[in-house]
Amino acid sequence: MKKIKIDAHAKINLSLDVLKRREDGYHELEMIMQQLSLKDIITIEERDLGFTLESNSREIPLDTSNLVYKAYAIIAKRFNINKGIHIYIEKNIPIAGGLAGGSTDAAAVLKGLNTLWKLNLNEEQLMDIGLKIGADVPYCIMGGTALAKGVGEKLTKLNSFSDRLILIANPGINISTAYVYNNLNLDKIADRPQTQAMLKHIEYGDTELVAKEMKNVLETVTIKENPVLSKIKDQMIMHGALGSLMSGSGPTIFGIFKDPVDMTKCEKNLKHSIKTVLSTKTV
Ligand code: ATP
Repeated sequence: MKKIKIDAHAKINLSLDVLKRREDGYHELEMIMQQLSLKDIITIEERDLGFTLESNSREIPLDTSNLVYKAYAIIAKRFNINKGIHIYIEKNIPIAGGLAGGSTDAAAVLKGLNTLWKLNLNEEQLMDIGLKIGADVPYCIMGGTALAKGVGEKLTKLNSFSDRLILIANPGINISTAYVYNNLNLDKIADRPQTQAMLKHIEYGDTELVAKEMKNVLETVTIKENPVLSKIKDQMIMHGALGSLMSGSGPTIFGIFKDPVDMTKCEKNLKHSIKTVLSTKTV
């Protein structure tokens, strides 16, 4: 029986702007997405029949609500394949943190099944299928650094912004994405990301300017209600981070560091009070 292993990288948002609320209830976004070396590892193994799922994590569902099942089901149905598979998720990405953990696992399964079942789908076709699973899935298939518009599906690949030192801190509080969007007051946001300026800084690979310009309008909802988030941001800046921001709808906060010694000190310090603290880098 054939077996394949695929890396499923986490993402952060270097900027996140909400342009408007659409008639259909979705939001028109403008985001700069960046993949991290932090990753889950997905192993897909052929079986005669059925679908089984295992993981080292006790925090994710192992039933049909797992996004990897949705990825398997959509491909099997579309191509009329009734072979079975077993999937093992080695979960390293903090769950429900704004790091697209579920979406990236689904993207990895789409890529893995494309190879395993010799479907010959190109990246664009895989991204179209991915969008049916979730708005972040097409980006997770593309990877690297990208500008995302629409609900996140209109993607433009950007110059690589790899090898920047990133510290991740997740206080483990529960923040519902739906709640954040429903409580966002678009008319009251004074400080928006300067996306065009950010695109220039990324083009020139200017880490300091990227870090200084980072903004996420969803912080207007989450930080007001969860002061621990601004405390983490302040601690990162105090320890020498060039910039610090919430990823997605939170609660994960990340910092970009220039000096690995500063980052290690910050990591040690935050570990006293914060549930999950990890050092990683951009890829
Ligand atoms: P995003 O950044 O795309 O909003 P997130 O990082 O905030 O995503 P996830 O880690 O994807 O959030 O988890 C959100 C929820 O999705 C979890 O509470 C979990 O129940 C469910 N889920 C389904 N499949 C997975 C998976 N493979 N990995 C993690 N969570 C999953």
